[in-house]
Amino acid sequence: MKRNRPSRRGRVVHDGVQAFLQAHRATIARELPGARVTVREGPASAFPQARDHARTMYDTRHPKVLVIEVAPRMMRSSRARIAGVLMHELGHAWWIVRGVDDHTERDADTAARRMFRASIRYDRGLVQTTGPGRSPRPRELPQ
Ligand SMILES: [Zn+2]
Repeated sequence: MKRNRPSRRGRVVHDGVQAFLQAHRATIARELPGARVTVREGPASAFPQARDHARTMYDTRHPKVLVIEVAPRMMRSSRARIAGVLMHELGHAWWIVRGVDDHTERDADTAARRMFRASIRYDRGLVQTTGPGRSPRPRELPQ
C-alpha cells in the first residue's frame, strides 16, 4: 500500500491528511459551496513554531480559491491532531468564502464544530485536536 501521495506541488502529503479530506469530501463541498480548496505541504520555514501546523491562504479578490498549507511536521502528527488542525483551517475557510475576512480564531473553531459536528480542543502542545484537550481555545494563544 502506498503511504504518501504527491500533492499538486509534487511534494508528499501525509496519508492521514488525504484520508481526512476523502472522508469529509461531501461535508466540505456542502459547507464551502463553489470553493476550490487545495491542500499541500508548505515549506518548513513557514512554520517556525512547534505549534504551527497549517495555514489557510487566499487572495481577497478570489475568496473561493483557497490553499491550505500544512507543515512538514504534520507528517508526524496523530490522526486526532490532523483532524483538529484541518477542521480549524476549514473553519477559517467557512468564513472566508462568505466574505468574512475579519473573524477570530475562536470563530474558526465555532464554524468547524458546526461543519463537522465535532469538538475542537487544544492538546498539550496547544494544537487543535479531536482527541483529549482543552476547550475553548486557550487564552494564552492568539485570538
Ligand atoms: Zn486559525
